[in-house]
Amino acid sequence: MVQRRPQARKLPSPEELRQLVNKLKTENKPANASYREQSLQLHGWICAKCGREFERENLQLLTVHHRDGNHHNNPPDGSNWENLCVYCHDDEHSRLILADYLNGTKQ
Ligand SMILES: [Zn+2]
Ligand SMILES: [Zn+2]
Repeated sequence: MVQRRPQARKLPSPEELRQLVNKLKTENKPANASYREQSLQLHGWICAKCGREFERENLQLLTVHHRDGNHHNNPPDGSNWENLCVYCHDDEHSRLILADYLNGTKQ
């Protein structure tokens, strides 16, 4: 039997959540809301990373990540989008920043 459960993480406090959401809002601006809608429709209300599922009440915690980091690259087939919950999204970006940092300091 295969057990594939989402990782149980400690839930942040409402204040921490608000800060996380604010932090990630820059790439989910209302002006760009249409791609979020599209991505949610294409990929479903589920985090691509941890498998957490979302409902209307907590859907604001599911954000759209741009795989190539370019928020203007929004192909309608959804190939540049990844639905990530705020936890995984934050994680993804810390990783990218770290990778940049490590690459940048190599020479
Ligand atoms: Zn997640
Ligand atoms: Zn992102």
